[in-house]
Amino acid sequence: MHHFAYKGGVLYAEGVSLGEIAGAVGTPFYCYSTATLKRHYTVFANAFAGSDALVCYSVKANSNLAVLKTLGAQGSGMDVVSEGELRRARAAGIAAERIVFSGVGKTRSEMAYALDEGIYAFNVESEAEAHALSDVAAAKGARARIAFRVNPDIDPKTHKKISTGKAEDKFGVPFDRARGLYKEASGLPGIKACGIHMHIGSQITDLQPFADALELLRALADQLHDDGHSLEFVNFGGGLGVPYRGDDDIPPHPDDYANAVRCALADLDCKLVFEPGRVIAGNAGVLVARVLYEKHGANRRFTVVDAGMNDLIRPTLYDAWHEIWPVDEKLRGAPATPTDVVGPVCETGDYLALERALPEFGEGDLIAVLTAGAYGAVQSSSYNTRPLVPEVLVNGDAWAVVRPRPTYDDMLALDRLPEWL
Ligand SMILES: *Cc1c(COP(=O)(O)O)cnc(C)c1O
Repeated sequence: MHHFAYKGGVLYAEGVSLGEIAGAVGTPFYCYSTATLKRHYTVFANAFAGSDALVCYSVKANSNLAVLKTLGAQGSGMDVVSEGELRRARAAGIAAERIVFSGVGKTRSEMAYALDEGIYAFNVESEAEAHALSDVAAAKGARARIAFRVNPDIDPKTHKKISTGKAEDKFGVPFDRARGLYKEASGLPGIKACGIHMHIGSQITDLQPFADALELLRALADQLHDDGHSLEFVNFGGGLGVPYRGDDDIPPHPDDYANAVRCALADLDCKLVFEPGRVIAGNAGVLVARVLYEKHGANRRFTVVDAGMNDLIRPTLYDAWHEIWPVDEKLRGAPATPTDVVGPVCETGDYLALERALPEFGEGDLIAVLTAGAYGAVQSSSYNTRPLVPEVLVNGDAWAVVRPRPTYDDMLALDRLPEWL
């Protein structure tokens, strides 16, 4: 469910025509819908109404300050994976005690910064990290609240580059070593192991891997309880998928996901923490691009647009499939043939879609690449010295540029010439 729809023959974001924004901002640009962000957050949070739950939106999915502030105003906490993201969350007004810090490679200086801010908890991913964090905290006379991120060795049945819960993935500590680690941690002066964390992957469209992971999470919680540890929270991460295409596996509804959680963790006297990213932001954004040329190769049609892999890398990196809609509704009914929608970047991997049935476009026609709100702009780059793609936020009939396109002067001014040149 999202708020991008045709009105009077033109694709709108809520009450604003994407054509109007394109005219004012130029292309390409990302456009986010406030109503969609709010709706997804609310559906997820409401699924846990009545439970002691903290929903920490995963900042890495879409970290624009305006997006963070929109979600913070709905009551969201945040899951961050770097000092930079922590600074963003704080700048967006998120209370430190609603922030959790994940990631396999936190530096000591990042740990110190997060301790000074007073975050809710660290998700610790290795024994070595636990020791480093204990040192950093003890030197401040502090004690870091932590959850070990436990790797349950479960196949989340998603793309291999976004699976995180299999034994061969770099994430977390092995399930069968977890008990020993909690014991060891109880002897470390600078940490308090008061939670368990699991995050098994992203774009998960089947409830079963979650259920399997929850069963292990519950078993570990019970063991730790028997070992005399007191757990204050369990953090089940994120990973709930979104529908990228009509004939996809439809991901579980947050209510069904919540039921699985309640079932597995019933009468466990702990706060529940979640880190949803994609399910909040994915459908809340589109990438709008302009068609430059239609090109007919020896045996292939190409539609060349002004957005490329540097703006949206998901098709290249994850073999992702994004729906593409013409902004002009008339074109939707026109005869369609297979085309590769490609960008201007000098890479063969620079495409937004392959062999997609689309109408023949004219120069200047606008297209919208759907479900681009998560892991879109955050992964963009200025490769080929292309200006970083701007971001626009719509709210009803209002819209604002929430990250402007840099000028070429801005871009060139980032470099420095050494004195010998
Ligand atoms: C990326 C990430 C998330 C969010 O995953 P989604 O699939 O976007 O919900 C949550 N927790 C951790 C630790 C992550 O790395």
